Order: sequence, then structure tokens, then C-alpha cells
Amino acid sequence: MKHCIIVGGGIIGMCTAYYLSKAGHQVTILDQSEGQSGASFVNAGYLTPSHIMPFAAPGMISLGLKYMLSSSSPFYIKPRLNADLLSWAWHFYKSSNAAHVKYAMPIIERLNTASSALYHELHRHHKLNFHLEKKGLLMAYQTQKAKDQEQEVVLAAKAMGLEVTSLNPEEVLRLQPEVDMDILGAFHYHSDAHTTPHEFMAAMKSYLTEQGVVIHHHAQVLTVNTLGSTITSIETEAAQFFMDELIIATGVWTKSLLKKIGVGLSLEAGKGYRIDLSEPTGISVPAILMESKVAVTPMNNFTRFAGTMELSGINTIVRKERVEAIASAAKRFYPSIEMPTNSKREAAPGMRPLSPDGLPYIGRIDQYNNLVVASGHGMMGWSLGPITGKLCQQLIDGDNPDFDLAPLSPQRRF
Ligand SMILES: Cc1cc2nc3c(=O)[nH]c(=O)nc-3n(C[C@H](O)[C@H](O)[C@H](O)COP(=O)(O)OP(=O)(O)OC[C@H]3O[C@@H](n4cnc5c(N)ncnc54)[C@H](O)[C@@H]3O)c2cc1C
Repeated sequence: MKHCIIVGGGIIGMCTAYYLSKAGHQVTILDQSEGQSGASFVNAGYLTPSHIMPFAAPGMISLGLKYMLSSSSPFYIKPRLNADLLSWAWHFYKSSNAAHVKYAMPIIERLNTASSALYHELHRHHKLNFHLEKKGLLMAYQTQKAKDQEQEVVLAAKAMGLEVTSLNPEEVLRLQPEVDMDILGAFHYHSDAHTTPHEFMAAMKSYLTEQGVVIHHHAQVLTVNTLGSTITSIETEAAQFFMDELIIATGVWTKSLLKKIGVGLSLEAGKGYRIDLSEPTGISVPAILMESKVAVTPMNNFTRFAGTMELSGINTIVRKERVEAIASAAKRFYPSIEMPTNSKREAAPGMRPLSPDGLPYIGRIDQYNNLVVASGHGMMGWSLGPITGKLCQQLIDGDNPDFDLAPLSPQRRF
């Protein structure tokens, strides 16, 4: 048995704690927040074997440049001269090509499919009570251009064995009879499921606590102490913690924490927002509103609209124009839906940890013999939580990992 300390109590940290604790280790989680906000709470809750495209793909650069000056566009890069951002953008540019997409797609698909199976396994666990439904995902479009774009992904998805159906508006209405969508059509990916994130996080927290995992909130790790190639302890303002193994699962903050011990990592924050609507909407099937890049999820007793990708550094500023853009997209696709002002006022942000090539960072670092990094999951961190946790446990136990971890190495070159 080892004493493992996990820094970061988002989905990645929580799932890692689950698999480490299950394998018999003593686990402590330290998190700087109150444990109810951020990416792992505001996300769309999708478990997405269908999301096979890495964020770094052909067309993203021109899209970024096109949208650069519009702060209400779905993808916004705040213009600024920052060496880290420029280096990330350069690596992103180098990865945004067809060869990389071909390389990354099967890796993403296999990780997502394995993780989705683990979520279903967790759902069957009698002590983990959380909402999970498998109704697939609609990629809904209003224009022929968006349809043509998605058609290419559909072909690749089908080649990987995923089931996808093309639906006209009448067929979408039959699938979801209680709300009208103003669309040209939709592709229905049958593989996908959806959850209600805060429910899962709460269920996991209480289960882990019951299993003896110690969780400290308002505990920001400020110092990491090392002796040669070993990490000996970490310090918060209040205490010092010693460990056998350290797991850094700190989302967008991972770069700055690793910098303290001389490890470089290319990572940018991609801010998004969610608006929750507690009034009944009639929406019963999750959908991505393609032209607006807004994700819609029927969660447990409310509907969530989530979206936008804002590269403006690490901050939790809520930009009203971006929240308005999500609300207007909802109205365009579901004309009967009214978005109350208070729902927009309560919109909350979260930051996706974006690696430049769209693959997560999961692995050890050469300089240290007791450090594991689990971050950079970008738009898929919610889906990839369980498989990441399992892989971290396998690394720590010296087991053969379920996947080849070389493409996910935190030290890979772009
Ligand atoms: C709007 C939106 C919609 C999304 N929808 C989906 C979706 O449908 N499906 C999907 O798969 N993914 C989705 N994502 C992405 C997903 O939410 C993220 O990839 C995932 O939550 C990242 O999890 P994490 O644990 O790495 O990071 P986080 O959730 O950010 O957790 C990191 C934690 O580390 C803590 N921390 C940081 N530094 C320190 C420190 N020094 N000391 C102590 N604690 C520290 C922070 O407080 C934080 O709680 C979405 C994201 C957004 C923003």
C-alpha cells in the first residue's frame, strides 16, 4: 500500500482517487476550491465516443483567425502578446493537419469508448447513485455547409464501428416529440450517453470519503519539495503533506504547478460557460447546435446549455456577450424556448485544460520517480475521467496499462 496524494479534485482527481483506493492505496485529495465549481461542474455531461476529432484539426486556425476580433463568436482568442500562448499556438498550428487527425482519432475513440464502459460500470455500483442515460447525441445543423462538414466525421466514425443515423426534421421530432427544432436535419450518434455532473461529483465524493479517502478543500498547494529525483512533500498555507506518490490533476493550473519543479508543459485554458434552465423545455435528447457550437443536455430536472471556447488566459470573468451568444443559439434552434434573465445572470464559467494536439497528458515524468501527471483533457475531460483514473492507478502499481501511453506522454514533442 502506498500513500498517494492527488492535487486537484475535479473529475480527473476524483476518478483517480476511486481506482487508487479500490486497489488498496491510502489516498488524500487536496483542492484549492470549495469543490463545487469549475470545469468539472459546468460541463455538458456528455460521455462522447462520438467526439473522435481532436481540437487541433484542419480549419481550426482559419476559424480562430476569423473569430479573433469578435468576442461573441463560438471560438475566441483574446489578442495578447504572451510567450506561453504563442508557443502553444505554434504547437497547435503544427498539429492542425489531416495527418494528425488520422493519428489522433483512433486513440481518442478507444479511450472514450473504454471510459464510457467504465462510467456504465460505476453506474451499476450500488453505492454510487447518479444520473446516466444513453440516448445518443444529435449533431443538429441548420445549413448544408455544416451538414457537409459533419458528414466527413460521420464517415470516419462509421469506419470505426460507431452507429450513426441521418435524420430529417420530422424524424428528429418523432425522437423528441415535446419540442420543435428549427433545423435542416441532424446526425444521431447512438454511442453517446449523458450525465448530470454535480450529481456524479457529489456521489463520488461521499463514496470516497466512506472508503477512507481524505479530501481537503480550500487547500492550495503552493510548494513542492524535492530531493534529487524524488518528490518528498508538498505544502499548503496550513500544512505539509508527505507521500509515496504524487498525482497532479490540476486542470488548467497544471502548467504553473509543474513549473515549480522545473517541468515544462504546453497548456492553455479554454473557457466555456453553462446556462441552466429549470423550467421544462421538452428537450429529451442531447444535441450539439452545430453552427453555434452549443451543447444542450437534458440533465436531471433541468436543461443545460453549454458552450463557447475562449482563450483568454486563466480567469473566471463572465463575458455577458458570450453568455448572450449561447442564449441566442438556443432560441434559433428551439424557437419555443425563452431563456429567463435570471438563468443568464447565473451563467457559470469553467476552463478546459487544452493541450496543443488535443490529446490528454497522462504519464510519468523522467526527472521524478514518484510523479504522475493527468491533465490536458480539453473538451473531453468529463468523458475521459474514469479511464484516466484507471491508467494512473496502473502506472502507480506498475501494472501493464490498458493503453499505449506513449502518445499521451506529458513529455511528448509536437
Ligand atoms: C462549458 C464546458 C462544457 C464541457 N462539456 C464537456 C462534455 O460534455 N464532455 C466532456 O467530456 N468534457 C466536457 N468539458 C471538458 C471537461 O469539463 C474538462 O476537460 C474536465 O472537467 C477537466 O477536469 P480536470 O479534473 O482536469 O480539471 P478541473 O475540473 O479544472 O479540476 C482541477 C482542480 O484542480 C484544483 N487545483 C488547481 N491548482 C491547484 C493547486 N495548486 N492546489 C490545489 N488544488 C488545485 C482546482 O481547484 C480544480 O478543482 C466541458 C468543459 C466546459 C468548460
